[in-house]
Amino acid sequence: MEKILNIGIVGCGGMGSGHAIALQSGTGNALWKVKTDDVPKFPGALTTDISKHLRLRGIFDIKPERRQWAQERKIPVYESYDAMLADPDIDAVLVATPNHLHKEQSIAAMRAGKHVLCEKPVMITSEDLEEVMQVSRETGRVFYPRQNREWDEDYLIIKKIYDDKLVGNVFNIKSRLTGSRGIPGDWRGIKEYGGGMMLDWGVHLIDRILQMIPEKVIKLFCSCTYITNKECEDGFQLHMTFESGLTVDIEVGTCHFISEPMWCIYGDRGSAVIHNFQLDGKMIRLTSWEDKDAEPIAAGAGLTKTMAPRSVGESVEERPLPRFDFDRNTLYRNFAEVCMGTAKQIVTQEHALRVLRLMEACFRSNESGEAVLFEG
Ligand code: NAD
Repeated sequence: MEKILNIGIVGCGGMGSGHAIALQSGTGNALWKVKTDDVPKFPGALTTDISKHLRLRGIFDIKPERRQWAQERKIPVYESYDAMLADPDIDAVLVATPNHLHKEQSIAAMRAGKHVLCEKPVMITSEDLEEVMQVSRETGRVFYPRQNREWDEDYLIIKKIYDDKLVGNVFNIKSRLTGSRGIPGDWRGIKEYGGGMMLDWGVHLIDRILQMIPEKVIKLFCSCTYITNKECEDGFQLHMTFESGLTVDIEVGTCHFISEPMWCIYGDRGSAVIHNFQLDGKMIRLTSWEDKDAEPIAAGAGLTKTMAPRSVGESVEERPLPRFDFDRNTLYRNFAEVCMGTAKQIVTQEHALRVLRLMEACFRSNESGEAVLFEG
């Protein structure tokens, strides 16, 4: 039988406790604490039993109430992070502390001979990640960026539409995530702790676009917002241009009381939309360019032929979004297999470095108010 990797969690707050329950149950499902009605249905989502790969050995958190939370659930608690790292039964550490701690805790773990699964954003700067990558090479320990939203179903649907050209050749993609609760009141609003929405949600949205589009980004323009927090950006708008001319608009916002669709993808043979996490959406595909010139319609104070909508069934057809099976636990499983030496790393360190460098280019653009060239 394949060996099971013993893992310890450092930082048992919102995300760390989600991991603890996911690992304890073997389902990998961290949706345990959301109201049942809010849980999206994932008809295609398979959740393989991760207890065959990873075993939760214990947690450490500096807050007594978080340690007590774990004890109540019969999860072993270490008295310090050093004690966890000194335990020969621990093969790997899952770092789920605030962002500014990821570097020192990851380096300490690898120097103690442990593999590391590190929450996103893996580091605050690309320089820090380069240092951590060097330690990973020196120690021969795995350092794995937990950029888990590459397995969100909304993204996988858009990726399928893009890969299979279901709306033809894609020329623009919009990826948005907006809410109305402002930046959270915890460390996420404080710069020295790695706060800000770029490092929080931006990392996921940028990660997925760079993973999906196999091209270089050549330039970008980014503008951050500071509506609910003056210290760290509470949102941003990013426009990226890829080598082929394909453009991508990414928006994260926390002061939007009406939300626009999460995804729009536009190709020369159709368009698709996904409105929300419940995956409401559709594809409209062109069947013929024939009725290019329509009858004019009333448009405000005038008329328009150019913008007259097409009727479904005449020159366009409406199709449901593609759905398919996928394993929501791929990242956990891949991490364990990479540590065992039986698989290649899917979310690579180099990819995480590219994401961090792009976010740094976003900040440069925001500061200068100008588009910046990006080689990567
Ligand atoms: P949180 O504030 O809820 O939890 C952080 C925990 O770390 C707290 O319980 C705190 O007491 C503990 N902690 C602080 N300093 C410590 C130290 N020196 N040693 C041990 N424990 C310490 O934050 P969170 O929302 O759980 O976020 C934690 C990390 O997880 C962040 O990097 C965040 O970006 C990431 N995260 C990832 C996702 C995802 O989808 N991948 C989702 C949420 C959060």
